[in-house]
Amino acid sequence: MVQQEFLNTPPMMGPPTIETRIDPNMVADPSSSVPAVQAAIATASKSEIPTIEDQESTTVELPAGWIAPNGRLYQEAVVRELTGYDEEKLSRIDPNKNVAHYVTELLSLGVEMLGDQKPSKEILRDLVVGDRDALVLGIRRATYGNDVVLKLTCTECGEDSEVTVSVTDDIKVKPLEDPLQRLFPVKLKHGEAQITLMNGWMQENFGDAFVKKTKAEMDTRILQKCVVEINGIKVLENDDAVKRLSSADRATLIDAITEHQPGPQLGEIEVPCATCGAEYPISLGLGNLFRF
Ligand SMILES: [Zn+2]
Repeated sequence: MVQQEFLNTPPMMGPPTIETRIDPNMVADPSSSVPAVQAAIATASKSEIPTIEDQESTTVELPAGWIAPNGRLYQEAVVRELTGYDEEKLSRIDPNKNVAHYVTELLSLGVEMLGDQKPSKEILRDLVVGDRDALVLGIRRATYGNDVVLKLTCTECGEDSEVTVSVTDDIKVKPLEDPLQRLFPVKLKHGEAQITLMNGWMQENFGDAFVKKTKAEMDTRILQKCVVEINGIKVLENDDAVKRLSSADRATLIDAITEHQPGPQLGEIEVPCATCGAEYPISLGLGNLFRF
């Protein structure tokens, strides 16, 4: 399922262009005169430091949206580009420990406005996974632009090529048909269940669990969080209730939970080899969206 692929994104890649950032002219030259260096420093300290207003901001349409406590639905957010300050803050969090926790931190830095306010971490966790993914893509666009360039080695023709994925054009976004509907009925072998959409709290709760648990154990945790009711009885957070279900019903529920999740389809992108046109499925995650 898409969200799991996003959760299991590979570890952050190191900055690939660090060498190019070192200007050879900056290396101390013993022949350079001291006054020239002082003049350079004086100019540098006088040069303007860009202010926060200079940062790029982007509007993001949320596929589901945030339902405020007063019942109002907000489907538009404003995100901004990340800076070195943000990069340093994020560098203190290990995305391999719990990538959903990392995403919450990333969003708390990059999301400026949701509806009419700067959202708290609690609100960012209340958002469904697809909205969080949409915001991550928005921050990516504001920071590095709309095109994601990936290297591809073709197994058909053996050639290396660079492929470009356009965040706005190549990633399909599944909307939530009725953005105010958050409970969905599912027919079981015997009776009916109600499920809800996966949100940031749940995503953080599974976090590292995906690495250590078996598929059946992971399914139990997802069901525990997303199955609200079975045959009219509230079962949320009830471990036994979802383990007692038949395997067929568990599979039906897992499929329904996956199908109902709105959001960018990050695991369903096909890119062609630039030489022979062979299509390759790729999955976008934090690792290839961000460079820090
Ligand atoms: Zn090829």
